[in-house]
Amino acid sequence: MYDYDVICIGGGPGGSACAMRCADRGLKAAIVEARARNGSGGTCVNRGCIPTKALLASADLYAAIKGAGAYGIELDMSAVSVDFKAVNRRKNTVVNNLGFGLEAFLWKKSRGIDVVKGRARLLDAHSLEVDNGREKRRLTAGHIVLATGSEPDVPAAFNADGEKIFTTDEAMDFSRPLPGSVVVIGSGAAGLEYAHIYNAFGAAVTVVEQRPALVPELEEPEISAALRASLEKRGVCVKCGSGVLAVERLEDGRVRTRLEDGQELVSEAVLAAAGRRPNTEGLGLEQAGVRLTEDGRVVTDAQLRSTVPNIFAAGDITAGPQLSGKAQRQGLVIAETIAGRACAMDYGSIPSTVFMRPELAWLGLTASQAAERGIGTLCGSLPYSSNERAIAEGRTEGLIKVVARASDHVLIGAQIFGEGACGLIAELAAAVGNSLTLEQLYNCVHPHPTLSELILEACKRAVGLSFDKG
Ligand SMILES: Cc1cc2nc3c(=O)[nH]c(=O)nc-3n(C[C@H](O)[C@H](O)[C@H](O)COP(=O)(O)OP(=O)(O)OC[C@H]3O[C@@H](n4cnc5c(N)ncnc54)[C@H](O)[C@@H]3O)c2cc1C
Repeated sequence: MYDYDVICIGGGPGGSACAMRCADRGLKAAIVEARARNGSGGTCVNRGCIPTKALLASADLYAAIKGAGAYGIELDMSAVSVDFKAVNRRKNTVVNNLGFGLEAFLWKKSRGIDVVKGRARLLDAHSLEVDNGREKRRLTAGHIVLATGSEPDVPAAFNADGEKIFTTDEAMDFSRPLPGSVVVIGSGAAGLEYAHIYNAFGAAVTVVEQRPALVPELEEPEISAALRASLEKRGVCVKCGSGVLAVERLEDGRVRTRLEDGQELVSEAVLAAAGRRPNTEGLGLEQAGVRLTEDGRVVTDAQLRSTVPNIFAAGDITAGPQLSGKAQRQGLVIAETIAGRACAMDYGSIPSTVFMRPELAWLGLTASQAAERGIGTLCGSLPYSSNERAIAEGRTEGLIKVVARASDHVLIGAQIFGEGACGLIAELAAAVGNSLTLEQLYNCVHPHPTLSELILEACKRAVGLSFDKG
């Protein structure tokens, strides 16, 4: 007999979703979390999705106040200021309440999940050792779920000091004075969200991306170009196509960023947001027989089973985008599999999101990715400026694209850059995930006037039926 049916290592979205569904299916579950404080909810709740959105809420409100004149609201801007310590306190309250509620109510009280604080290491396929710094404990389980997430990956040449040269872990601390100028290294979701926040609060921001275009994973030149133009219109300096060689503190306290093309950027601070390393070292995986990819991710099958049949993996340590939604879905697939129900992971309909302003979201294939695979497509593309709600609200920047298979009109991809993109993509994720056709989407009445009509019109346009013929 084992101590538990399932032990999830890591209390982030992957481990949390898995443990909760296991408990809901009548399995005895435990979560082992290494961080004694700010661990419940993992990176997502404590250092990622949630704190950035709390900071974004303050930054957006400030930007809205500054832009109020365009909507007929007269304000004395000399009387408006930002209390960054209060912004930080609000963010902390949001984070702490969510983390506490998750552990106390959703895990322990309503599901009876045991929470063990300490760093776990596999001893063999069914047992692990948990070290909390004071004592070591041995736990056994029928199934072990690895959900240890990721940490910022910063090259030594960046000389990160957590103060002037920092990662997203430190960037969320707004109790410090806002730097007057920031170089953001990396144009993935986290880098762009912080670039937007700093810019909205008035800092001079430069985004450095070593690949030729912003958001390399997107691979959609028209949308990348629209995004770049939007950032530059807001005063953000964008440098693509040259990697960072080194970052170093100068004697006057400022920071110099040296690029491969010889350029040097001097700023008050540098945010290194160019990648995250999967937490798979020191877990005893190799000795247990769990195989890793070259970049340290766990090799899994469609049920997220590792090369050891009773050991599963979810979240940032597995293949695919490092996103909370993916981690949660994988956790649920694992739980259902352990509970004996047929379930598999579908990577084709995972939406990627960047919560800057305007927002950016995409999923599935772009038209050129489909062409590379020999798939004929029907594509519909529409500017936000054609949508009545966007016009009424003065949010006409951006565009939407939908991609469907020409042979059967089934949706296979979508890209949206514009107001509300991260919410709008959900409808397209449901469509792609369930192989819905253009006709099935556009024959559903969409509420008027809403941005969701952009989806309807883009689908109609793909077959030449859009009201908007522009
Ligand atoms: C700035 C930023 C913003 C983001 N915004 C978004 C967003 O808006 N939307 C989105 O979908 N994603 C976002 N993400 C990504 C998202 O946070 C991650 O993809 C998600 O948290 C991954 O979940 P996970 O369960 O794999 O791991 P994590 O959330 O990283 O959790 C892993 C947990 O495991 C613990 N752990 C590690 N090793 C051990 C061990 N040996 N023993 C016990 N415990 C261990 C860690 O302490 C941690 O709490 C953001 C990330 C960052 C950095």
